[in-house]
Amino acid sequence: METGGYPAVAMQKPTLTPKAVIKKRFGDQACYKVEEVVESTEIGCPGLAITQKGPCLYRCSLQLPEVSVVSGTFKKKKEAEQSASELALEKLGIHLTENNPTSEESWDDVVARLKYLFSNEFLKSLHPLSGHLRAALQREGDHCGWIPVSLITICDSKIYNLCKSIDPKVESNPFLVISYVMRAAASLSEVVCTSEGKLWIRRQIQYPHEIIDSVIPKPGSSESFLIRAISIPCLQEKSVEVLNLNVSSTGYYLDFIANQLGLVDASNILVSRPIGKASSETRLYFTAPQSYLLELSSDYLNAKEVIACEGSFNERASYLSGEDIYGDAILASIGYTWKSMDLFHEDLSLQSYYRIILGKIPGGVYKLSRGAILAAELPLAYTTKTNWRGSFPREILCTFCRRHRLSEPVFSTIRTSEAMTSGLNKNLKVNESAVEETQHASGCIVATGAKEEVESGGTFRCEVKIYSKFQDLIIECSPKDSYKRPPDSIQNASLKVLLWLNMYFMNPDMPAERLNCSATELNIQFYPQHLMKAFGLYQSVQNFWHSEIQGGILLQSNRMNMPHTMLGHGIGSFNIEGPDSGVSASNGCLSCISYSVSLLTEGENTKELLESTDEFEFEIGSVSVISHLETVVTQMTVGQSAFFCMDLPPKELILAATDDCERVVPMLASRTCCLEYTITLLRVTEPLEDRMEQALFSPPLSKQRVGFAVQHIKESGATTLVDFGCGAGSLLDSLLNYETSLEKIVGVDISNKSLVRAAKVLHTKLSKKSDADVPFAELKSLVLYDGSILDFDSRLYGFDIGTCLEVIEHMEEDQACLFGDIVLSSFLPRILIVSTPNYEYNVILQKSSLSSQEEDPDDKTQSQSCKFRNHDHKFEWTREQFNHWATELAARHNYSVEFSGVGGSGDLEPGFASQIAVFRRRYPLQGDDLLKDTDIERQYDVVWEWNGGTRSRSAL
Ligand code: SAH
Ligand code: MG
Repeated sequence: METGGYPAVAMQKPTLTPKAVIKKRFGDQACYKVEEVVESTEIGCPGLAITQKGPCLYRCSLQLPEVSVVSGTFKKKKEAEQSASELALEKLGIHLTENNPTSEESWDDVVARLKYLFSNEFLKSLHPLSGHLRAALQREGDHCGWIPVSLITICDSKIYNLCKSIDPKVESNPFLVISYVMRAAASLSEVVCTSEGKLWIRRQIQYPHEIIDSVIPKPGSSESFLIRAISIPCLQEKSVEVLNLNVSSTGYYLDFIANQLGLVDASNILVSRPIGKASSETRLYFTAPQSYLLELSSDYLNAKEVIACEGSFNERASYLSGEDIYGDAILASIGYTWKSMDLFHEDLSLQSYYRIILGKIPGGVYKLSRGAILAAELPLAYTTKTNWRGSFPREILCTFCRRHRLSEPVFSTIRTSEAMTSGLNKNLKVNESAVEETQHASGCIVATGAKEEVESGGTFRCEVKIYSKFQDLIIECSPKDSYKRPPDSIQNASLKVLLWLNMYFMNPDMPAERLNCSATELNIQFYPQHLMKAFGLYQSVQNFWHSEIQGGILLQSNRMNMPHTMLGHGIGSFNIEGPDSGVSASNGCLSCISYSVSLLTEGENTKELLESTDEFEFEIGSVSVISHLETVVTQMTVGQSAFFCMDLPPKELILAATDDCERVVPMLASRTCCLEYTITLLRVTEPLEDRMEQALFSPPLSKQRVGFAVQHIKESGATTLVDFGCGAGSLLDSLLNYETSLEKIVGVDISNKSLVRAAKVLHTKLSKKSDADVPFAELKSLVLYDGSILDFDSRLYGFDIGTCLEVIEHMEEDQACLFGDIVLSSFLPRILIVSTPNYEYNVILQKSSLSSQEEDPDDKTQSQSCKFRNHDHKFEWTREQFNHWATELAARHNYSVEFSGVGGSGDLEPGFASQIAVFRRRYPLQGDDLLKDTDIERQYDVVWEWNGGTRSRSAL
């Protein structure tokens, strides 16, 4: 049985897939037929006919005008089709790549190209290599005209690619390509010459005078200039430092670099590929190890194996460049370009060096793209395109792969089943059936060639695969989340991979168990051996980015739950200044701040500004800034300022941020210091759901929900109320504006951040209790608990009324069902009010939001990319689904249920905007129902408590 054989083969030639080549040649004449093959394996002795059904496999037959072929069997339809295409091409004698020359042809081309590079014509051309050739001709005496061979391979991609097509190993062993060029030179002895034991090359006969005169400037007064480069010593203990290179404008710059490296001349200098951005001229310069030269003089073709070197491996430089570098290295931004005949050069600083290092880590790429090294963090969630700031996940992932010299990531989007089906039971199974349909769906998409087509109503998942340059599969990730638009599913899947990689990079010593665990959490599978091969070097060079200094491990669960589990930690250690404007940012809001970060030495004698921004936007809740910053911002109102101090992050992060390493390095070395953050909250943009609700309803939908609850509280004469999932306390706060019989009010929520806000708001309001006529005169106590409403806490047993407004859709569907059962079997409120969005009403909301948002036409994509009203919603039910759930639930627990709603009308299609169920216990609590002492269960933590204004206690 051949399975999965295809991808590895095809990926080595990334130009076109076999199927694409077939399509190009034959168009509609190509006819693919895919059939299902159920393979059976016999178990036990052959005589016994016990067979086991294997997984479903596919075979593809391909009919072309001249040939027809049948593929082997594959797990995926796609693979079967590609394999059939490949077979057909083979039969037809068509090479997979459009121009796939044989080795001999390539070899002839290498020789011809080398000959051209030393022609008169080339010397006059504008090409990075001709710049070197001209500069080398300015040397006096014996050295005139010699250039390092390594330059030919790095400046001329044609030669490089030809060599690569002869031998793909060229990719990982730059010396191999040099040895190929030397071999070509040997066969061109009438054109070029090389010299024994050296790695340089020059033209055999002199260029004609008139050519030299026309391209080489007359030696005038020799000017020299200084450029700042970075020295990266081979010894790890020696620090990376700025180096001043003095270059004479009439000489050849490589000679000056050679001198810095302690060499007499530039004969054995090697030059790396560009470092950092692909377009940069920043390269590493280093000395060719002696063994290269020995190898060359014996027989270059044996150089195919990676040469073992004499122990002077430069780990830092090798990590930066992705190729093996020995001895001391110099990082410099200098060289000839395609743009000008003149030498390009630019100063580097330690900041540039540390930014290059940062740019090799996913979180670093994100920080750099936001220009906020000390404030931004790779967000934990891809919510909507409109709320994302900085480079998008897909872009970051591609950059990351390029910088680590991996293949481009492979994305495949898969259509899953329709998101909403009618009937609750069907809907509950959506997750499983989506997975089952994956293969089927992907097969369909490929077979019809309609990959990009988005049909209304369908949803998409995405799978990402990361391969090394040699097609070893390193990571694959297939998140279950589905999106309306394929691009969103790609962003989401890319982000998962980035989060995991980032965690790996921040904690390279992380135990395998933790690494596995977080991979599972993110639906990632990784191949440890290939991972080690790709990033092993990082492990040996990194001595920073430790999680404990970073303040919060990057694991999804840990970072998400931190505010919850770290109650009070960090909160309180900051100061907020300015009047409370009442406008604050909650989850899903886009907040805009200005901030600055300074390095402060103990006693505040010295203060050095490291980073500052006038306008910095980020979405609250996706943890796209360092967590402490987000915590502080959620406690502020618009117009307020705050400042707080934090322990130092890794030194490298600070050096990447500051443009004045000279001042900062001694500060870091000599004193204990901290980082001081100063922030001002400039404005807050509410999430789409709130904006829609406010724009479309008057009073706003949230106020209408409160009104609905108040009505029932009044009618019932309730004295005790619990608000399940109280959030930032919008219901509790509003309730205090009405005269009710309530004496005891309790709020529970799982979000500590929201509870802290609720406590603030309620505190302000309740402190007015001493005023003459507040409406809540009867109120004796108000308590806020931190806990999950899926856990029972006996302190909330048997209340008169329970409310749960717009909460259940924030849990997974099965959890929402579980909550229903727990409330009506354990908490046993006399009345329970549950509200949740009516999915059918979204059409109206989305229409109105489109027309009312001309100021930002991009917002369209938000309502489209978000399946539901709010990206945090895990589901939204139709009226039928909600009725089904509530009716069965009530029946199970001997409650009655009535349906109602707010926003719109129940009598008109598509019903209320928010649908509401009111449950009533059909029996009084007595006897067996009453709690016994043994039943006491305390699952919740008191966050804040108010007792009639006499005593007030807070756990904050
Ligand atoms: N009822 C509030 C808040 C609605 S937002 C209002 O109408 O304004 C949904 C809230 O449910 C969030 O604050 C979220 O933290 C909370 N929540 C989600 N799952 C929860 C759980 N398992 N236990 C407690 N609260 C939960
Ligand atoms: Mg909601």
